[in-house]
This record gives sequence, C-alpha cells and structure tokens, in this order.
Amino acid sequence: MRKIVIAGNWKMHKTKQEAEQFIDEVKQLKTNERVEAVICAPFPYLSSLVNKVKQTDVKIAAQTMHFEQSGAFTGEVSPVMLADIGVSHVIIGHSERREYYHETNETVNKKVHAAFSHHLTPIVCVGETLAQREANDTLTHIEKQIKIALDGLTDEQIANTIIAYEPIWAIGTGKTASSADANEVCDHIRNIVAKITSEQTAEKVVIQYGGSVKPENIDELLSTSDIDGALVGGASLEPASFIQLVEAGN
Ligand code: PEP
Repeated sequence: MRKIVIAGNWKMHKTKQEAEQFIDEVKQLKTNERVEAVICAPFPYLSSLVNKVKQTDVKIAAQTMHFEQSGAFTGEVSPVMLADIGVSHVIIGHSERREYYHETNETVNKKVHAAFSHHLTPIVCVGETLAQREANDTLTHIEKQIKIALDGLTDEQIANTIIAYEPIWAIGTGKTASSADANEVCDHIRNIVAKITSEQTAEKVVIQYGGSVKPENIDELLSTSDIDGALVGGASLEPASFIQLVEAGN
C-alpha cells in the first residue's frame, strides 16, 4: 500500500517565533505508519525546525534549492546544505518558481537528480494553467513535464519521487479541482510513469494533489484511487487545520 504524504507549503509566511510555535503545537501529532506529515518552511527556519521535530512524526522540507553543490550562485541554497542540516524533502518546480523564477522542465530535472544525490526526497510539482485546461492540453502538458522531470532517473529513484499534481488555476484561488478531475490526471500521471519505468514502479509512486486543499475537501480527495496525499498552501498555515489534514490520512 502506498504512503499518504500531507505536505504543508508555508511559502513566504511566518516569523521565526510563529514557525517554532506552530511546530510546538503540531508536535504531538501521531501519524500511523502509512502517513507522513511534512512542513515546507522558509530557509531561515529550517535548521531550528529540524531540531524541533526530532522525536516527532513531522518532517521538514525546503521549498526549493539549486542543483549545484556549491559555487558562485549568490542567494542560492544547495542540496549539500539542506542535507547537512537534516532536511528530508524538497519541493522542486512549484508553479510559482516556474512563473516568477523561470524554472524550466530542464532545471527541474537537474534538481531532482541533485536531490537524490544528497538523499533528499523531491516533491516534483506539475500542473496546467487555466488556458491549457480550456484548450484540452492538460494531459499533453503534464506528460511533457513528467517525462523531462524524471529523465535519467533509476527505477528506484522514480519509485521514491513524490509527484504533486497542482493545477495552477486552483492554487491559492479557493477553486479546487473536483476529486474526479484531479484523480483522472493523477491516474494519467501514474500511466506515464508506468510507460517510463514499469507498472510495478508506478504503483509505488506517491502522487499528491494540490490546489486549495482544506479540511473540508481532503477526505474526498483521499478517497480516490490515485491521490496519495496533498501539497497544501493556505490551509497549512494554522496548526489546527494542518493537524486535521494529516489526521484525514490516518
Ligand atoms: C501550494 O502552495 O502548492 C498550494 C496548493 O496552495 P493552496 O493550498 O493555498 O492552493
């Protein structure tokens, strides 16, 4: 049975005190073996949050990283640095990074390789714009994103990749894809992965849905055949709602 991964993406929110208080409040969260709770925090807080979640069921992720190990890349953070401080996951290719920081499918692929080289679990984001959905281009667009993102990975690495399907029109808008529509795309993603690797490997891949997920709609999304968790922005900012989201997976 696949894991359920509930990841909260705080984006550029919270002071250090707020971040630490959040972890204090969710620390008692007990997940069963099948569920993983991940907080994707801003860089300045990662180190202290990693220390705070020791002996708890919460994991700490970065929201992006560079693909090089070190070098003259002012302002960037490398996979070596993240691994060094005990971060376990990293979001790669979030649509906001693609839109505002010109991340491409090719840089996403380099980052996924870099993540695995440093034992970080990549959460690879894919998703279509409203225009692409209306033009019936969703599945073609996502197929291209997935094929390039996973290019050159071993079957084992692909099995350990988390893919987050996030329709861009649903992120931060309050509009959620219907569970049927979201599941259709997640099923398509699994078929693409099966074509690249094998059905067996594709069956192991955790595929999250993201886009205005909240405690009110998580149960329905998780009841589908191919949605194995959620990448959550807004509703992950409050400890109570993050706890509810994780408990939905339990
Ligand atoms: C996200 O940040 O990836 C996201 C899905 O945000 P929200 O849940 O606020 O739509």
